[in-house]
Amino acid sequence: MGRIRKIPQRICVGCQKARGKKELIRIVRTPDLQVKIDATGKLSGRGAYLCRDLECLDLAMTGKKLQRALHADLPPEVVENLKAQLA
Ligand SMILES: [Zn+2]
Repeated sequence: MGRIRKIPQRICVGCQKARGKKELIRIVRTPDLQVKIDATGKLSGRGAYLCRDLECLDLAMTGKKLQRALHADLPPEVVENLKAQLA
């Protein structure tokens, strides 16, 4: 059996599909409790991932999935920023 090299995959909190990290936007709750969009993928903290798709953002907001994944509230400016990036 050949081994398949694994690409790091993360699950979108919206649609729950696994995708390569680079296809997803990372949102992070930093150790000082700020919620940020992590453009570099390197910020430390608790992360959540979203497809680059407004529908996934909507899904993730419904039922507060994103908030639960981050264990933090989403500041309105972060939501606006995400919408702008996904539109
Ligand atoms: Zn998704």
